[in-house]
Amino acid sequence: MFKLLFFLFLLFLFVILYSFKKRVDNVLDVLFPPKNKRKGDANNPDVLVKCLNCGVYLPKSDAVKKIKLNGEVLYFCSEQCKKEYSSKK
Ligand SMILES: [Zn+2]
Repeated sequence: MFKLLFFLFLLFLFVILYSFKKRVDNVLDVLFPPKNKRKGDANNPDVLVKCLNCGVYLPKSDAVKKIKLNGEVLYFCSEQCKKEYSSKK
């Protein structure tokens, strides 16, 4: 019985420490914003690319990518456009 209580106590402690660590991380993020936190295109995420299906321009980081066999990357504004473009060809 005592063992179980001890285990629960450890679990409780772990949860407290974990939420505390998260809070500290948030504060650190505000004080020292990380420069390369964004995943994907680390070089320049806000470059505009053109949707090959409807011609709309959108940030590269938001674009739906399709990588062709030869390594060429095609950009679309949505999965819908990607499908439409694929079915056209
Ligand atoms: Zn589109």
